[in-house]
Amino acid sequence: MQTNLLINGQLVAGEGEKLAVLNPSQGTTLVEIAEATPAQVDAAVLAADAAFDSWSQTAPKDRSLLLLALADAIDANAEELARLESNNCGKPYSAALNDELPAVADVFRFFAGACRVMQGSAAGEYLPGHTSMIRRDPVGVVASIAPWNYPLMMVAWKLGPALAAGNTVVLKPSEQTPLTALRLAELMAGIFPAGVVNLVFGRGPSVGEPLTTHPKVRMVSLTGSVATGSRIIAGTADTVKRMHMELGGKAPVLIFDDADIDAAVEGIRTFGFYNAGQDCTAACRIYAQKGIYAKFVQKLGEAVASIQYGEQDDPNTELGPVITEQHLERVIGFVERARQVPHIEVVTGGKRADRAGFFFEPTVLAGARQDDEVVRREIFGPVVSVTEFEDEAQALAWANDSDYGLASSVWTSDIGRAHRLSARLQYGCTWVNTHFMLTTEMPHGGMKLSGYGKDMSMYGLEDYTAIRHVMIKH
Ligand code: NAD
Repeated sequence: MQTNLLINGQLVAGEGEKLAVLNPSQGTTLVEIAEATPAQVDAAVLAADAAFDSWSQTAPKDRSLLLLALADAIDANAEELARLESNNCGKPYSAALNDELPAVADVFRFFAGACRVMQGSAAGEYLPGHTSMIRRDPVGVVASIAPWNYPLMMVAWKLGPALAAGNTVVLKPSEQTPLTALRLAELMAGIFPAGVVNLVFGRGPSVGEPLTTHPKVRMVSLTGSVATGSRIIAGTADTVKRMHMELGGKAPVLIFDDADIDAAVEGIRTFGFYNAGQDCTAACRIYAQKGIYAKFVQKLGEAVASIQYGEQDDPNTELGPVITEQHLERVIGFVERARQVPHIEVVTGGKRADRAGFFFEPTVLAGARQDDEVVRREIFGPVVSVTEFEDEAQALAWANDSDYGLASSVWTSDIGRAHRLSARLQYGCTWVNTHFMLTTEMPHGGMKLSGYGKDMSMYGLEDYTAIRHVMIKH
């Protein structure tokens, strides 16, 4: 197994503290990996800084060819990468291989093309005797910090646009799920010039902080929790770095009396529980209108009770474990506190599964009210709440009454209502009669505490560039 850091084109062992990397389906240690020391973090940033001058001057076509080579290498090693990902996250192997790996390669292919067709305002004489033009240039060294829920996908979302735009990168995967990123680093070492992309392994305080606060880092891109985002923003304020923040979510799902109930139930069974609900867009905060509420809760309870959980290699497994024992305790805490609330009913699930590993039963909590903790806070596990609402105005007000602003969905057969609500929901994305569907051409990103900046799409590429004005006096 590849456990070395990538610094200036060399695969080198970390020289810091050793950390255990687990298989959450069994709770066993897969491997121990040494963290980067502060000196190794410094070396990685200096390598990226030294590589910036030449990488930023390469033609888009040449960067594009290397990104395409990386996509091909991912395809060629897809089974190995999917195996590492599913062992390290407990995800079903088939989901890692068939859902995630093709999407990872597609992100690199998209940005390989996108960097060749960037758009801007027309050059012209906006003052007599002067020609103005707009440039979009790379920002510099980017520190990219990834979470544990989709380890390789999040790496692709970060590296694709950053490298395509001509930046150099120091990547830090999550200390819990580094295995696919480490293997990718080995593949990248054979493709990119030394220093263009570097990887350091370790925890937030010991490796993330020296990286994000490094004076040579010009941009920080984080996908992670709100707490980590605000900590990084505060910790880097004195060096005024560009920030790209993809933080938490608590997606509202508005189901109206005129919706196709069976489609909504099937949608939530899938999109509320995919990746064991450890998804920032998970369909977890459900509002159902009073005319269908009782029937909907009954059908959803039956559907969720049928979700098969188990080991990542079992082809029947739909739902894996949560990532760590500590995270499992957190999920248990939310559900136990909800159980004490008299108006909340545990329709199905509600407890730790009786088996090894960090499994929690797929759970539906009905009767939840707007101010209940399970409606307001991100649980990030296989747990959804259902709240009854009267009318459209109440559903919209409750949906927007949240600290988060990442994703939302509306389930209705009324096209006017679909448009009305899509215009007024304060979320980076609104789906109508579906949820969770992503495509590389379209942006993903939040509002409010869910952060700012876009992943994927041309907007994602633009986020990794600085707009510059060049004016020439005739
Ligand atoms: P986390 O914030 O605990 O960790 C994310 C990353 O930040 C890890 O690599 C961690 O080591 C690093 N980190 C922690 N403290 C740091 C510090 N002080 N300085 C620098 N780096 C630091 O988040 P997590 O538990 O890995 O992931 C779950 C969270 O991510 C959830 O809140 C989820 O909603 C969010 N998420 C958001 C999106 C999105 O697109 N908006 C996607 C996936 C996950």
